[in-house]
Amino acid sequence: MTDNKKAFSLKLNSRVPAGGLKDKWIKYKNKINLVSPANKRKLDVIVVGTGLAGGSASATLAELGYNVKTFCFQDSPRRAHSIAAQGGINAAKNYQGDGDSTYRLFYDTIKGGDYRSREANVYRLAEVSGNIIDQCVAQGVPFAREYGGLLDNRSFGGVLVSRTFYAKGQTGQQLLLGAYSAMNRQIARGKIKDYSRHEMLDVVIVDGKARGIISRNLVTGEIERHSAHAVVLATGGYGNVFYLSTNAMGSNVTAAWKAHKKGAFFANPCFTQIHPTCIPVSGDHQSKLTLMSESLRNDGRIWVPKNIEDVKKIRDNKLKPTEIKQDDRDYFLERRYPAFGNLVPRDVASRAAKERCDAGFGVNKTGEAVFLDFESAIERYGKEQAIIKSLDANNEKLVRSLGVEVVSKKYGNLFQMYEKIVDQNPYETPMMIYPAVHYTMGGTWVDYNLMTTVPGLYAIGEANFSDHGANRLGASALMQGLADGYFILPYTIGDYLSNDISTGPIPNDTDEFLKSEKEVKEKIDFFINNNGKHPVDYFHKKLGKIMWEKCGMARNKKELNEAIQEISKLRKLFWKEIKVPGSNNEFNEELAKAGRVADFLELGELFAKDSLEREESCGGHFREEHQTQEGEAMRKNEFQYVSAWEYVGEPKDAILHREELIFDDIDVKERSYK
Ligand SMILES: Cc1cc2nc3c(=O)[nH]c(=O)nc-3n(C[C@H](O)[C@H](O)[C@H](O)COP(=O)(O)OP(=O)(O)OC[C@H]3O[C@@H](n4cnc5c(N)ncnc54)[C@H](O)[C@@H]3O)c2cc1C
Repeated sequence: MTDNKKAFSLKLNSRVPAGGLKDKWIKYKNKINLVSPANKRKLDVIVVGTGLAGGSASATLAELGYNVKTFCFQDSPRRAHSIAAQGGINAAKNYQGDGDSTYRLFYDTIKGGDYRSREANVYRLAEVSGNIIDQCVAQGVPFAREYGGLLDNRSFGGVLVSRTFYAKGQTGQQLLLGAYSAMNRQIARGKIKDYSRHEMLDVVIVDGKARGIISRNLVTGEIERHSAHAVVLATGGYGNVFYLSTNAMGSNVTAAWKAHKKGAFFANPCFTQIHPTCIPVSGDHQSKLTLMSESLRNDGRIWVPKNIEDVKKIRDNKLKPTEIKQDDRDYFLERRYPAFGNLVPRDVASRAAKERCDAGFGVNKTGEAVFLDFESAIERYGKEQAIIKSLDANNEKLVRSLGVEVVSKKYGNLFQMYEKIVDQNPYETPMMIYPAVHYTMGGTWVDYNLMTTVPGLYAIGEANFSDHGANRLGASALMQGLADGYFILPYTIGDYLSNDISTGPIPNDTDEFLKSEKEVKEKIDFFINNNGKHPVDYFHKKLGKIMWEKCGMARNKKELNEAIQEISKLRKLFWKEIKVPGSNNEFNEELAKAGRVADFLELGELFAKDSLEREESCGGHFREEHQTQEGEAMRKNEFQYVSAWEYVGEPKDAILHREELIFDDIDVKERSYK
């Protein structure tokens, strides 16, 4: 552990109920305070964010009778980043009869997160997972079905069962349409007021409780004060601190960061997921990276050539990958992890790809790509179809066309997307992939009720830290967002609001609101009037480069210290030289971006500090100093805690609080996927 003099242990109260793991949630729900229907009508809740977490929470809270205001920066709630989710959503339904259970989903999630998540929350997540599927089916979400009409499943990384429900490669979109239609019913009833194209720029605390927000109308520039009895942040992750990521361009940390500055502790900021199957970076011009869904690893096999000479020829276009014989290919995941093969968790797959590329076996011009190949799957499916249809299973051409048909039914839209971006046909030649920033396990610290360290301020979905530890398993983000929004927050928030039934409406013209509003206006005026030398992206790109090179897939003490210095310097330059064109009373995307990047510049430094402090490797957090001889992450018992940072001014002065993680029902073992 580093000698961080400011760091001290303070028992964060996670409010995990007593009792056996399996009974906690049921017993807890039976005991917490309820609010009567007549009183719910007197209570206002602000939900910032309309992705799967915020959309499902808003719809459910309004259905229960609360008055809800929802905020999102997009032009419609249904354009939240959740819409991009491709591969699927997990649930322990055991439809395949392959040995799945609530316990197994719980176990896989804890192990997947390298024993760095809170046991009670994860068990509850697994417990409600089945309800999510029922709820979404009832809404009409068109999950893929098998021939007989039952819901179909596929596998994702880190598990040995098939428990992922999906809607082709558009699962997030379909789920979000379900949540959005549930929201719309409440918008029509007047129970939800929808504030699209509104950005939350501060949270207002009155007498120690979250009582509202300050938002900016992104179209007119107007600054507004909104009050409520409780505020819920469902504002997504902060992967864009890296500039290049698979996240939507607008995804940002501003809401969570403003809450942090007002007292909400920020947990495990350095836990970032680097997804192994993304389209490689092609040059400096890029502002976005594209994910190829993990579902592709069900059928795609990952490899590089065994011989360095073949690698060179491929890079020089003198040899096609399809011309390399099977024996000359290194299916490195299958070789290193025979039990899980291509479906090892993301952190393991990403590091293995990096290891091969660092050793010189990368197959594109920059040496940062490996192959994802569907030839075996096409042949396997083709032969199966030929047998089913009583056709000639030895006819190679026929088998191939039948196989292509099956693969296209499963992943057609993903293949089409790849071809459009790379201009290569992935049915004919293997895809090229490389790891990229994708998801953030860290986020706002919450207790068992999903409440932050600020009373009345909640965080749900990707915005909180709670369920995925140091590495999230594929298809578990959608599960968590919807579990939080449909099935957990609606209970726990009632317990808190039951104390407010006689409070009456919260005024929005008190000193606290006016002060907050003034500060927001001053910052906007500063951006507009500064007239510096460089646009926002200049700083964002520089920050992203530092983050990727020094706080990315592999980190070490020396470079993390450098990153802290460099980010701090860059932040000072930003405040001196930022240039924002246009005015503050019009739609001004540069102005919105300036505020977001200002917050990323602070978060980035805390991120590096958190990474430096955690002197172990676990999941997506890989410290080069702490690895086994085989290059696997080396976890350390003394770091079995959640780091929760308290804001006290500059990120360098942030105070570390530790929530010790206690595992009663799971043996903390070596995390092996062999
Ligand atoms: C390409 C891609 C594919 C993925 N595929 C899968 C998958 O197959 N399965 C899976 O489980 N997970 C997947 N994920 C992860 C998953 O999509 C996300 O973790 C999840 O959708 C996050 O949902 P959310 O509701 O927490 O936040 P988001 O969907 O990010 O929504 C955030 C909301 O907050 C609003 N907001 C943010 N800041 C502010 C502010 N300051 N003021 C007002 N509003 C604000 C936004 O407008 C938006 O409405 C994928 C991620 C990516 C990038």
